[in-house]
Amino acid sequence: MKVGIVGGGIVGLFTAYYLLKEEAEVTIFEKDFLGSGSIHAAGLIEPYRFDRINTTGMIIKMLRYISKRVTSVKSLNKAWVIELLKNLDKEPPTEAWETMKEMALFSLKEYRRLAEEKNDFDYEESGLLEIYSDEKELEKGIIEEKKSPFRPKFEIMEVKGFAGGIYFPELSKVDTHKFIDRITKEIKDAKVVNVNVDKVSKDAKVYYSGKEEKFDKVVLSAGVWLRNVGLPITAFKGYGYRVKGEMKVNFPSVLAELGVAVVKNSDFIKITGGFDGDFSSDSSRAEIFLNYAKSLVNISYVYDLYMGYRPCSPDGFPVIGKAENVVISTGACRLGWSYAPSMGNITTDLVLDRRNDVGYLSRFIGGRNLSL
Ligand SMILES: Cc1cc2nc3c(=O)[nH]c(=O)nc-3n(C[C@H](O)[C@H](O)[C@H](O)COP(=O)(O)OP(=O)(O)OC[C@H]3O[C@@H](n4cnc5c(N)ncnc54)[C@H](O)[C@@H]3O)c2cc1C
Repeated sequence: MKVGIVGGGIVGLFTAYYLLKEEAEVTIFEKDFLGSGSIHAAGLIEPYRFDRINTTGMIIKMLRYISKRVTSVKSLNKAWVIELLKNLDKEPPTEAWETMKEMALFSLKEYRRLAEEKNDFDYEESGLLEIYSDEKELEKGIIEEKKSPFRPKFEIMEVKGFAGGIYFPELSKVDTHKFIDRITKEIKDAKVVNVNVDKVSKDAKVYYSGKEEKFDKVVLSAGVWLRNVGLPITAFKGYGYRVKGEMKVNFPSVLAELGVAVVKNSDFIKITGGFDGDFSSDSSRAEIFLNYAKSLVNISYVYDLYMGYRPCSPDGFPVIGKAENVVISTGACRLGWSYAPSMGNITTDLVLDRRNDVGYLSRFIGGRNLSL
């Protein structure tokens, strides 16, 4: 079977990986370098830290983020805003949570399996520490974890200089740069075409640079670009620095109230932050997060800065489904790395017609006139 994948971010790469295992003939269309859309990430494999977006609580959190300069809103996809408001505080079906739990477990296990084959991507089952400055927020965080459908293991920890932390021992981390190198080697049999795709049709034709190419199936894993096909996906932009320095904490950590993450790898420390409703390439706000991270890292040198766009659905759940011969896989928002193995695996099942939909996760595909 001939499959074209539009978008070689972490979801497209995992999709290529599983499709090649099924002996599909894979072509990846990527407008930048493979992994470019995902490399900036912290590398936390944290599927249990899932947040619903279409809740009043989340809107309040976003307003607080705006007051602390964690978020600035320049532009949002209108279709995303409409869906969010239409479904505000609407509970997803139980089936959606069951799917997410399976996806979380699958993904955690896949990173472990890949590391057991060869740990050339700084994989560590280090757990994750969520740090709170405010005691009341810490208490709220604990209550939320107790209610979480994922039932994660967690313990409360003292953290010097802070109100405290919630430690999740089951979570892991990778070096995103090394992981992209690894998976690129794994998919060496895929053809890579470095172009910007203009259009895709439901009969699996890909249009680029004045040409068209016909496939048996096409996968759309092009992140926030998928708003152009009519999906209610919006971009929450963020920044990832690689720095040299010394960690003041023993675990990969997240400053809960500021959304800043710090992760120690063997060659550098990754610092990420920012949740900007913004499709532009302006990175002038990045330094705010470098400064926020100073409470957790003594920074001696900044190597580089990458920027990325979280592809967010209106409720936070991924969007995976099939429109005729096109399979769509996106929308994992804050947790694209955490769910990519399982998104790639399910997308492969859809491509091979082993299933036709993914229940609630296919909610925006059927009946919608996607202008592919
Ligand atoms: C600061 C920050 C930190 C993060 N940290 C974590 C983390 O620790 N853990 C976690 O689980 N997640 C994290 N995320 C989220 C994660 O990075 C995203 O969810 C993930 O990158 C989404 O992957 P994707 O493959 O769906 O899309 P993308 O990574 O955006 O990939 C899409 C690809 O498609 C390409 N493309 C788009 N349009 C076209 C076109 N027309 N033609 C050809 N190619 C095209 C793009 O160039 C891009 O490479 C973080 C995000 C940010 C911003």
